[in-house]
Amino acid sequence: MANPKKRKTHSGTRKGRSHLALKKVTLNKCPKCGHALKPHMACAFCGSYRGKAVLKIKTKKTTKKK
Ligand SMILES: [Zn+2]
Repeated sequence: MANPKKRKTHSGTRKGRSHLALKKVTLNKCPKCGHALKPHMACAFCGSYRGKAVLKIKTKKTTKKK
């Protein structure tokens, strides 16, 4: 097995890990309802993709009278 010959310095370790940061998730707004969306995904809130309805969304039955 290959082994490192020398111990890595603190700065060398930190420099290498500077590339490991996670990227922020990009979010767009649904043009129909304004809900936050990942790009290239249908809106799970209103079921539309690029302005067209592509999903059937089950809505909770809400009673108006209480
Ligand atoms: Zn939507």
